[in-house]
Amino acid sequence: MTRIGTSEHPLRVAVVGSGPSGMYAVAALLDDEDLEVSVDVFDRLPAPYGLVRYGVAPDHQKIKLVSRVFDKAITDERVRFLGNVEVGTDLSREELKRHYHQIVYAVGAQSDRSLGIPGEDLEGSISSTEFVAWYNSHPDLADAHYPLHHERVAVVGIGNVAMDVSRMLAKPVEELAKTDISDAALEEMERSRVREIDVLARRGPVQAKCSPAELKELTEIPGAQVVVDPGDLELDPASEAALEDDRSARKNLEIFRELSEASDEPEKRKIRFRFLVSPVEIVGEEGEVTGVRVEHNVLEPTPERLRARGTGRTELLPVTMVVRAIGYRSERLLDLPYDERRAIVPNLEGRILHPDRPEEVSREYVVGWVKRGPTGLIGTNKLDARETVEKMVEDVPGLEDQGDGDRDPAAVDRILADRGVTVVSYDDWKRLDEVEVAQGEELGRPRVKFPRVEEMLETLEELRAGS
Ligand code: NAP
Repeated sequence: MTRIGTSEHPLRVAVVGSGPSGMYAVAALLDDEDLEVSVDVFDRLPAPYGLVRYGVAPDHQKIKLVSRVFDKAITDERVRFLGNVEVGTDLSREELKRHYHQIVYAVGAQSDRSLGIPGEDLEGSISSTEFVAWYNSHPDLADAHYPLHHERVAVVGIGNVAMDVSRMLAKPVEELAKTDISDAALEEMERSRVREIDVLARRGPVQAKCSPAELKELTEIPGAQVVVDPGDLELDPASEAALEDDRSARKNLEIFRELSEASDEPEKRKIRFRFLVSPVEIVGEEGEVTGVRVEHNVLEPTPERLRARGTGRTELLPVTMVVRAIGYRSERLLDLPYDERRAIVPNLEGRILHPDRPEEVSREYVVGWVKRGPTGLIGTNKLDARETVEKMVEDVPGLEDQGDGDRDPAAVDRILADRGVTVVSYDDWKRLDEVEVAQGEELGRPRVKFPRVEEMLETLEELRAGS
């Protein structure tokens, strides 16, 4: 029997999800010179790169350039892209195990966290997950509609997603029109009546999770003014101490201080930071949001961190839209083990752990947010993926031949063809990409994205028929 990972018997790997963590895993596998690999990358959507296409804000085209790194990996002759294939629906976990030696789940965190307060399901109360997906033309949100007839909006949370959402709501429509924002969102932004965006942080300015660069960008929006109350910048001793070894917090504080000194420019849209407040109720009339009740907090040291503790003093903010940007959440994936508390697949450095069968070497791995939780920037996934791939490589000598199934990449193609699944290859995607870019060119935009999967598949069919 030949050794797995050699040219006679390459290591067959399935990567489920083509977002940054999955693609960095592919790149790390290709980098190993002692290993012969054959990698299939699955994505439930016809377009690759997940969060880069559907999560990164449309006005952050530079961040999207990371897709060039991923292009290099996906066009390598050892790699295939199988888009429009949903693992769990079109192909089962058991089939993956039969046809691949190792499987890497790189599915990210697709859901949002909820505040768990009354009124969260009123109309006008939405999650940033859906709002971001909507303005980025994610096909799941093709039928969504978020009217922006509101004058005052609350954004809950002070992480980078809250910055993205606030910036998108505050930016002049002429600037957004130069991006690849979805047409549906652009139309709404044209009609937008938003005048004030309240960013609600449950802790203080030193605990803001946003990066200084993202915060700074908010201050540079033409026609918008960021407002900070100087009283909110008086620090408690614990926050003062925390500043010492946190460069990013020091930089943020410097920006907040500068902003707090500015005089009011009444004609401008306002982005108003409010610190030490937690929403306790979203108030509504006839099913629609009319306000958010917040409770004022104080900071309380705990062994882990400075926690927000409610004081009982509340205030009603008359907003008519509430966007919660309080973090993402990975859902249970297939029948894999799931850590309910951390909302991740339990793992040790990427190797999936079966809590009731600790001795089992599973041949299944995780990378990215489903491995470590929804934290870090795109680049964080590079090291994270490398760690998982190191474990995969360590496990190769213990792998057993799975029979014929793992030797023939065409076996999976046959299963999918029998099931009538239209697999979108990377070459197919490039043709769609060209169409999107050409549509954008006419309008001075980087691209106009297809809003629906069906449209992508129909266009492909037309292109195939035409060539
Ligand atoms: P995040 O950085 O974890 O921020 C979540 C925010 O929500 C925090 O301010 C948190 O406050 C607050 N929060 C959580 N639960 C809350 C509750 N029950 N009530 C009130 N506030 C609550 O998450 P994120 O903004 O979703 O970002 C996810 C990751 O993607 C981050 O690593 C981020 O840097 C990254 N990202 C990067 C970019 C970029 O580089 N351009 C853009 C978008 C996202 P506490 O601190 O008090 O918990």
